[in-house]
Amino acid sequence: MEYGQRYVYVSANREICPDLPYVQRLFHKVCREEYGTQTGPTMLAALKLQVEIYNNKCNDTCALLGTTSQGAPLVVVCSPLMKKVHQLKHSGELCFIDSSGNMDRENCRVFLLLTHSCAGGLPLGILLCQSEDEQTIAQGLEQLKQVVGEKGFAGRGHEGPQLVITDDCRAERGALGKAFPKATLLLCSFHLLQAVWRWLWSKESGVTHGDRPALFAIVKEMLYCQEIGSVDRLYSEARGHPVVARYEKFLRYLDRLYARRECWALSYRGSFLTRGNNTNNFAEAAMRVLKDKILQRTKAFNLPQLFDLLTSRLETYYEARIVDVALGRWESFQRAKFLPQDGNIAALHIQQIEDKKFVVKGSTQTYDVDMDLELCSCPAGQTGAPCKHQAAVMKHYSCLSHSFLPINPEMRAELMKLTSAETISLDFLQPLRLKRQSCQSFRSAHEPSTTHQEQQDEEAGHFSAPLHPLTPRHPHPSV
Ligand SMILES: [Zn+2]
Repeated sequence: MEYGQRYVYVSANREICPDLPYVQRLFHKVCREEYGTQTGPTMLAALKLQVEIYNNKCNDTCALLGTTSQGAPLVVVCSPLMKKVHQLKHSGELCFIDSSGNMDRENCRVFLLLTHSCAGGLPLGILLCQSEDEQTIAQGLEQLKQVVGEKGFAGRGHEGPQLVITDDCRAERGALGKAFPKATLLLCSFHLLQAVWRWLWSKESGVTHGDRPALFAIVKEMLYCQEIGSVDRLYSEARGHPVVARYEKFLRYLDRLYARRECWALSYRGSFLTRGNNTNNFAEAAMRVLKDKILQRTKAFNLPQLFDLLTSRLETYYEARIVDVALGRWESFQRAKFLPQDGNIAALHIQQIEDKKFVVKGSTQTYDVDMDLELCSCPAGQTGAPCKHQAAVMKHYSCLSHSFLPINPEMRAELMKLTSAETISLDFLQPLRLKRQSCQSFRSAHEPSTTHQEQQDEEAGHFSAPLHPLTPRHPHPSV
């Protein structure tokens, strides 16, 4: 189209239209200069250079190259964004870990460590290695601890996070136990049930087709029952169950599961700050991002190229995602549990006890909410999960919370701090239509000057009286 009548001459000109083999040869020439050969010493030299260049670019030690006892390279990455995520309170509480392969031609293993936030799972570190035995993973975690430093994991440093949710992988759990001996290792509920299902539906189990659902239901109930001591009760009931009695193999399988009940039964998690997370889904989703968005369903040529892609595209992806969530452009999150849903709890049902402590009156009982710890005494809020009582307090008192999608400029600014974006004024982060939601406006609404209509609105939980968008009531300092 561009060349019109001259197309016939242009298409025959290889200077303008090179053929595919030529492009491939050129690609390999350029690729080899930057990434070395697929394996061997040239690849290692290229990898070393890549790590050096990356650290210089970051002006910090953000990647570390080591060698395993088998002489294979082992790289860990904690990018500038990941270092900022390590400052979040959540990074010291809970960490997800998962690994995947098939990302380059040499089939390297990629381990991702993540923590949760209102923007989904955010990365804490990456391990790149050529095998997944316990010793290699443990060495990788030690290397990561060096890069992360004492400020990592929300100031817990080398102690690592309090809780780690993993798949049922012995090597991974063994390595985590060595690297973070003080951390509690939990099993992902979904993966546990999946493993039970697979075992029951395999020939090895010897269970007939008709009995499988009944046996699966027994394990499922043991997993989900929230009552303390329920696992022991259900276990002894299961042992006397007529269907269970027919299968000696299942009984032994159940015994082995029961011995590890503290890792998977939800009734043992009441005292842990899981913040409503019982599965490793954040890590699973991150793996999909890696393969779909970062690698675009192709394989990297070798380890140096994989390192390059992970340190450039992954960082850009998560930065863009955080900015989108902060500015309310992440549409898929609008249906999520992070959306503050206050269950129409009106302001008059909330009593402020201290600066960040509140008592919220529910329909049948009252709940204590601590916005500093982001906890509530209701069943959901006890583990730190977002609940309607915290949402109501956040709405009426304009408190900051990391468990919900941002609803005010201060929360948006907190999220933006994770990115490398320059300082953004709170005015920019204000919604186009201002609502009276701040703590101060709530108090002033109860002063004698408040009109009867306004007070009725406040009591009904409506804060719809718009202010003039150009004259914000409270001038905010810059972030
Ligand atoms: Zn609650």
